[in-house]
Amino acid sequence: MDFIGHGGKEIKERILSPGEAKKKIKNLVSVEISGRIARECIDLGYGFFTPLEGFMGKADVDSVCKKMSLTDGTIWPIPIVFDISSQEIKEKGIKVGDTIVLTHTGNPLAILEVEEIFSYDKDEMAQAVLGTTDTKHPGVRMIGRMQDTFIGGKVTLVNKPQFNPPFDRFFYTPRQLRKEFKKRGWVRIVAHQTRNVPHTGHEWLMKGAWFCAHGDAPVIGNKDEIKLGTGVLVNCIIGPKRTGDYIDEAILLAHQALHDGRYFRDDVHMVSITCWDMRYAGPKEAIFHAILRTNLGCTHHMFGRDHAGVGDYYGTYDAHRIFDQLPPGSLKIKPVRVLEWWYCPVCAEVTYSGLCGHTKERQKFSGTLIRSIIKDGVKPTRVIMRPEVFDVVMECAEKYGFGSPFCTEEYLLKRNPVFVVPPLG
Ligand SMILES: [Zn+2]
Repeated sequence: MDFIGHGGKEIKERILSPGEAKKKIKNLVSVEISGRIARECIDLGYGFFTPLEGFMGKADVDSVCKKMSLTDGTIWPIPIVFDISSQEIKEKGIKVGDTIVLTHTGNPLAILEVEEIFSYDKDEMAQAVLGTTDTKHPGVRMIGRMQDTFIGGKVTLVNKPQFNPPFDRFFYTPRQLRKEFKKRGWVRIVAHQTRNVPHTGHEWLMKGAWFCAHGDAPVIGNKDEIKLGTGVLVNCIIGPKRTGDYIDEAILLAHQALHDGRYFRDDVHMVSITCWDMRYAGPKEAIFHAILRTNLGCTHHMFGRDHAGVGDYYGTYDAHRIFDQLPPGSLKIKPVRVLEWWYCPVCAEVTYSGLCGHTKERQKFSGTLIRSIIKDGVKPTRVIMRPEVFDVVMECAEKYGFGSPFCTEEYLLKRNPVFVVPPLG
């Protein structure tokens, strides 16, 4: 079994048994953490962020900001930091050399070894990572909301988060996911990053990426059972939501509906989740996603237009170009760079912008248009959205969304949490 992740480092799980955990956290100072930090503790504990074993110290943050790499030269584009107010540090007497326990919704989730306490200019960080300090950029606002002090140090989980339905069946740790791939006989896995309910344009992005990853793979097996060995991993990003976004449940189950509706064979497609708070860092976030999916065991990663972008801060295909600027061999995963799929009435099918020449007739998929159709409860034509996908989205609206497939204030306030941290033992 190959458990080698980004930077050539082994993917390790940093997690204590309940018995060890109880002993370890006795008499430790505790700090209640935000949703973002809880998600990042889970990522660190299970090896999603390999080779990182904890939150970054100042030298790594500085190196990431200025050189897009860790101090040891490993490519890394986004600082992973633990922020805390200087007041809380003072009040709780936290100092270098301590170990503190991190609680979420009151229950212990992880311990943090305090190796370094430091500050870093947040505007400088935003400018370096996002290329702007404009507060209209959600990533800038996120950095702006951080407290004034950072703690660098190793993180170990003392408790396992419990994912609520329907998320539980889609959460795999990197090590578990690699075992799943092995079970399926997949040797080429192309990651599809998403925060959207899939229309057929998305479906074809995945199918096109599958063709690229499958490439000239040899035919294995006999004519009755050809083994392909190539799969699409849909990896839904689960993080903070804003009103108007599709609800998480609809995104996840709509992707699964493409599977259950057999638009993808059972043996070429699976849906999973990763907890991550999008920075909307465009090209730099594309590299981060590539690292994340390297750790998940993927060999390829699909990048479409405006990957992880927002507004017009980045060029449409900046996330494609940045991969050419990396030193050779710095990433194990191969980017699959795709243009657009659209519907063409002359071709009478969904076709690729790199192939179809009917530029006047072609109809681009408009996320906004599809959303407005769904909002009215009208079923889009099957060439735009599969009926199974639409049905699931509407079911999710009733079951999880308080009547709407889009996040409302009510949903944000009352939704069932994605995961809970249970009391320890
Ligand atoms: Zn055409």
